[in-house]
Amino acid sequence: MHTAIVWLRLDLRLADNPALHHALQHAERIIPVYIHAPEEAAPWSDGGASRWWLHHSLRALAGDLRHLGSRLVLRCEPSLSALLDLVRNSGATSVYWNRLHEPAFTRRDNEVQAALRAAGVDVHRYNGSLLHQPGAILTKTGRPYRVFTPFWRACQQSPTGPQPLPSPNALPPVPAHLKSLELDELSLLPRLPWDQGLRATCEPGEQQANMRLHAYCQTSLPTYPASRDYPDRPGTSHLSPHLHFGEISPQQVLWVLRDYAEHAAGGLTAASESLIRQVGWREFAAHVLHHYPHTPEQPLDERYRNFPWDNDKSLLTAWTRGETGIPIIDAGMRQLWYSGWMHNRVRMLVASFLVKNGGIHWLEGARWFWDTLVDADLANNTLNWQWVAGCGADAAPYFRIFNPVLQSKKFDPDGVYIRRWVPELAHLSARHLHQPWGAPQRLLHDSGLQLGRDYPYPIIDLGSSRNQTLVRFRAHLSPDR
Ligand SMILES: Cc1cc2nc3c(=O)[nH]c(=O)nc-3n(C[C@H](O)[C@H](O)[C@H](O)COP(=O)(O)OP(=O)(O)OC[C@H]3O[C@@H](n4cnc5c(N)ncnc54)[C@H](O)[C@@H]3O)c2cc1C
Repeated sequence: MHTAIVWLRLDLRLADNPALHHALQHAERIIPVYIHAPEEAAPWSDGGASRWWLHHSLRALAGDLRHLGSRLVLRCEPSLSALLDLVRNSGATSVYWNRLHEPAFTRRDNEVQAALRAAGVDVHRYNGSLLHQPGAILTKTGRPYRVFTPFWRACQQSPTGPQPLPSPNALPPVPAHLKSLELDELSLLPRLPWDQGLRATCEPGEQQANMRLHAYCQTSLPTYPASRDYPDRPGTSHLSPHLHFGEISPQQVLWVLRDYAEHAAGGLTAASESLIRQVGWREFAAHVLHHYPHTPEQPLDERYRNFPWDNDKSLLTAWTRGETGIPIIDAGMRQLWYSGWMHNRVRMLVASFLVKNGGIHWLEGARWFWDTLVDADLANNTLNWQWVAGCGADAAPYFRIFNPVLQSKKFDPDGVYIRRWVPELAHLSARHLHQPWGAPQRLLHDSGLQLGRDYPYPIIDLGSSRNQTLVRFRAHLSPDR
């Protein structure tokens, strides 16, 4: 009897899982294993919010496997030693996995593959997390794209693969003598109970991912292009953690969206193509990380390598706590802390505020996001922070500095989002909510608000900090330097 190990990582699903599918075609016995080895991801081991999601996603996957007659084997040790131990104890002759694209994982997987092959074990690797393999989309001169629009055009001209693979109907049992840890032994959940917001808002798991996608298509997809920038509306799909942990594949998302577009009455083609384009940004981020693996720590644009960032710890702390005195920034940072997620428009604003007004290194912000986002994703986080800072692929130019007050008035005009996350401002009128420091004293008093006591004064002046940044960037990029 041929036994195969399926090494599950960021592909915590049964449907459209090429590694699982191919293992089932070639082996009579399948051993699905998840190995927790955080040191192998260093320096980007999962943060607190990601670990929380991972715990629940593994629990869901274990339940789904049990339902089909199998069992998830959990290990917590170096990946190679766990795999070799399973090979020895099960008689497995092959290991199947879907590729990862983070630099630490690519290195580790190459080493594991070499060691397994040296031990006489076959290794089979598949693409399960992207529409296009990194390296498959290149410019006419064979170079990686650094600008999104031509990259995405090239993607659209390439075949995106066949229909997603179905979930198996049944799986062979895992031999009882193969040991597994209990999920709690991975210690993924926080010791202090800061996770009540995650418990209230997050639903990890493959079934939840699919339910979310279909519910989203039925309710909010038609208005996606018009409402995706408004944080006070249920405009976006919230699929990001599901996609990061591979509870759903981009291929599945693509097919479902195109299916809805085809069968819905009028208008949905533009909406679904608009959402697919965002999935294209995820694709772009993975390709950039693949070609430029130094970018999680270093700017893609060499000119920013020695940029003189500030090191204002009190500003950084106020930013992380949502106590900057700029309502839209504080609303975003509090949404993040509570729910592990933040709206994309507000992510851009809080990042621009930290880097461009605060003068703080983008890496400080990226690290905070890494610890607090349930969708923390090395490629997406890196690309977007560098985009905002002006030093990455397709980046906003340095002189593009969001004005958080104007943005807040435009995208949260009635202050619904701010009132929800900064309740101390709830009684201010929409006119003054975006900029309470400009409100007349009498009005603040009538709203029961004393600035400096109930809500901070702005920690920095938006206008002068913007001008200082422009001077600093110009000086740094000046050809005479
Ligand atoms: C500073 C900053 C940091 C970010 N860090 C992350 C991160 O760690 N992980 C992450 O998944 N996204 C990150 N993003 C991108 C984006 O904010 C989120 O993907 C999006 O808000 C997720 O919400 P959604 O699933 O409702 O998005 P939707 O609008 O419904 O988009 C669908 C999917 O497309 C992808 N996507 C959308 N926008 C982007 C984008 N700008 N870049 C890459 N992929 C995108 C996501 O996978 C998303 O789930 C970051 C953005 C900024 C500005």
